[in-house]
Amino acid sequence: MQKNKFVIFGNPIEHSKSPQMHNAAFKHLNLNNTYETYLLEDGNTLKDVFISENIKASNITLPFKEFAYIQADEVKGIANEIKACNTFINENGKVLAYNTDAPGFMKAIEDFDDIKTVLLIGAGGTAKAIAIALKDKNIDVTVINRSKEKLEFFKNNGFKTFLSDNFRLEAYDLIINSTSVGLKDEKYPIAMLKLENLFLNSRYAFDCIYGKETPFLKLAKQENLMVKDGEDMLLYQGVLALELFIGKTIDKETIEVMRKALKQ
Ligand code: NDP
Repeated sequence: MQKNKFVIFGNPIEHSKSPQMHNAAFKHLNLNNTYETYLLEDGNTLKDVFISENIKASNITLPFKEFAYIQADEVKGIANEIKACNTFINENGKVLAYNTDAPGFMKAIEDFDDIKTVLLIGAGGTAKAIAIALKDKNIDVTVINRSKEKLEFFKNNGFKTFLSDNFRLEAYDLIINSTSVGLKDEKYPIAMLKLENLFLNSRYAFDCIYGKETPFLKLAKQENLMVKDGEDMLLYQGVLALELFIGKTIDKETIEVMRKALKQ
C-alpha cells in the first residue's frame, strides 16, 4: 500500500494534537500514512517546503495561515473571505488551499437552534473564521475586542465593532469567547458584571478554549445557558481536513476514534 506523508506546519508546534487525531484515524481506516508536526522557521518557505518534501497534504496553524492563503495556487471556498487557510492539498504539484476552521465551528454549534444574533468577544485569527462563517449563514455578528488594531478586518468586512470597554449591552442569542483569556488564567474576557448581564439575555455560550472549564463557561452555566467548549471545533476542523486529504466522507465511528485520540 502506498504510504503518504502528511504534516501540520506551525511554530511552536510540539503541543499540537493533530498528529494523534489524524494518525488514529489513518490506523482505524487501514491507511498506511504518516502525519507529523513540522516546525517551520520562515513562513515564506511554506509552499516550497510543502512541495519539495513531497507532502501529500498538510494542515497549517499559527502563525502561518495567512502565508498559506497568499502562497496557494488556488484558494477554495470560504477561505477566500477569511484570507487565511489551514489546509493544503497537493494535487499533482498544484497547491489547493482551504479553511476548515470556519465550517468546523459551524458543525460544533449545530445543536444551537435559531441563532440570529451573536456577540463575538476577541478579534484574532480564530475570530475571523468564526465571524465569516456566521455571516455566510446570514447571522448578525457584533465583534468586541480589548484593543482596536485587530478590529480593522471586521470593520472592513461590514461587522459592527466596538472596544470591549466601550459598547452598549444588547441581547444576543449566542456569546462567544474567542480570546485566549481563561486558558492559562482564571479571568473573564470582559468585566464579569457585563458578562453576567449579557448572559441574562442569551441562550447559548461558546468558548473556543478546550480542555478546561473557563470562568466564562462556568458563569454561563450558572446562568443556565447551554454551553460548549472548543473541543468539537478542533475535532471538526480535523474531520473536514481529513475528508479533503482522502477524498471521502468520514463516518461517525472514525469521528469518535478521532475524538478519543484528542483526549489522550
Ligand atoms: P490570537 O492571538 O489571534 O488572538 C487573541 C485574542 O485574544 C485577541 O483578540 C486579543 O486581544 C485577545 N486577548 C488576549 N489577551 C487578552 C486579555 N488579557 N484581555 C482581553 N483580550 C485578550 O489567538 P487565536 O484567535 O488564534 O486564538 C484564540 C483562542 O482560541 C485561544 O485561546 C486558542 O487556544 C483558541 N483556539 C481554539 C481552536 C479550536 O479549534 N477550538 C482553534 C484555534 C484557537 P488584543 O487584540 O487586544 O490583543
